[in-house]
Amino acid sequence: MDHLPIFFDVRGKTVVITGGGTVAARKSDMALRAGAHVRVFADELSDEFRDIAGHERFTHAHGFPSAEDVAGAALVYGGEEDYERDAALFRLARAARTPCNVADTQDLCDFITPAILDRSPLVAAVSSSGASPILARAIKAQLETIVPPNYGDLAEWAKGFREEVSERLPDGADRRRFWEIVMDGPVADSFLRGALGEAEAELRRTLDAEAQGAARGPRGEVYLVGAGPGDPDLLTFRALRLMQKAEVVLYDRLIGPQILNLVRRDAERIFVGKETSNHVVPQEEISRMLVRLAREGRRVLRLKGGDPFMFGRGGEEIEELAREGVPFQIVPGVTAATACAAYAGIPLTHRDHAQSCLFVTGHMKDGGIDLDWEALARPRQTIAIYMGLATLPALAAEMVSRGSRPDTPAAVVDNGSRPSQRVVVGTLADIAEKAEAAALKGPAIVLVGSVVSLHGALAWFGSRAPTPDARTG
Ligand code: SAH
Repeated sequence: MDHLPIFFDVRGKTVVITGGGTVAARKSDMALRAGAHVRVFADELSDEFRDIAGHERFTHAHGFPSAEDVAGAALVYGGEEDYERDAALFRLARAARTPCNVADTQDLCDFITPAILDRSPLVAAVSSSGASPILARAIKAQLETIVPPNYGDLAEWAKGFREEVSERLPDGADRRRFWEIVMDGPVADSFLRGALGEAEAELRRTLDAEAQGAARGPRGEVYLVGAGPGDPDLLTFRALRLMQKAEVVLYDRLIGPQILNLVRRDAERIFVGKETSNHVVPQEEISRMLVRLAREGRRVLRLKGGDPFMFGRGGEEIEELAREGVPFQIVPGVTAATACAAYAGIPLTHRDHAQSCLFVTGHMKDGGIDLDWEALARPRQTIAIYMGLATLPALAAEMVSRGSRPDTPAAVVDNGSRPSQRVVVGTLADIAEKAEAAALKGPAIVLVGSVVSLHGALAWFGSRAPTPDARTG
């Protein structure tokens, strides 16, 4: 280790900063937040001091700090971005034994400033000992995704129970175990999603149980999580956090290996969907498994492609959980229609083209497609059809025979947002034929409506399908 990592209390102390630009403004802001009196020496303050300059603990002085100014400070920062002047400051600080930091100038630093993740009172600091600040910032960015924004509030909230917990659990080991259960289970989860009443009730239940010596482990829970259309970059922060937390995961064929790789390494993986749709694990069986695994005290992740409530049977899967009183939470995902629209450059609504959007499924049920054809034929709307690739010939023909114009633009977006994405463009009259010619494999979304005509101008991602006379611009 090249430096001693410490958090320094500057409340009520003076921090001297030189310079009136970005660096000085950032250091001033940080020192003020930590409770210091900040004295900035600069001839002029840039715009970035706008929100800082009025602070009651902030003073602006002209010129350069004197030896006394530096000796009277707890810390000094050189932010003039001028080596000679910063070096002069460093010499003053050395003489006065005041620790000094000059941004990005290692030989003028007694201490370095880490990249921080601020969830006060929780603060994580990352340093590369000056070797690569960019790398430290990259780690900080990763921490930002893992640590929920209100984690600090959680720490603050927990503090309010500390005394009571100490009284009821006098043994240190018992207390540690209690807080582990609280921070790693439904109590923290409830708090983080804003259900304070529930969090407190669950905390008290846990406290009662622990105080009675009931060796109760963390209660099981189910996370119903939307994993998006396939590109791991489109996962939400919360999805990723729960993927890292779950001990067992149930997934189906829409979940690719890239996403599955982000699930905690030691989690048990259970595949519940086979390639051929008639071999999937029946819905009731999945629901029963979720209940059983949660009852065993496990944290169960039900990972679904796209959004769990968009043609995902997410509702059916959790009905059973609700009935059985198993705690669960639901995380939305980027659904295939919006992902395909974005990655194909086809806006779902557009003032010149479509004021509404219908989400339908082209799935065949009992040998027919059961859709509100009249609604589909309305003008100035976009129709996004899930599970419509296999039935596209019947679907397009039926739409035309039930009143849709045959020249209505239509597109098939195959493997949307993935490196293998392909887009086939045509009209209701010929889209089925073109999709067939392109030998698309799915999963695919069919988009119908005049917004499809914007694809030529707005497409930006991947290669376009080589169809005979594709109108892709
Ligand atoms: N819950 C999912 C949809 C499940 S139904 C969601 O919100 O996206 C399965 C259908 O979703 C597929 O038949 C296909 O129409 C669509 N789909 C899923 N992933 C897709 C992708 N990457 N590209 C295009 N369509 C996709």
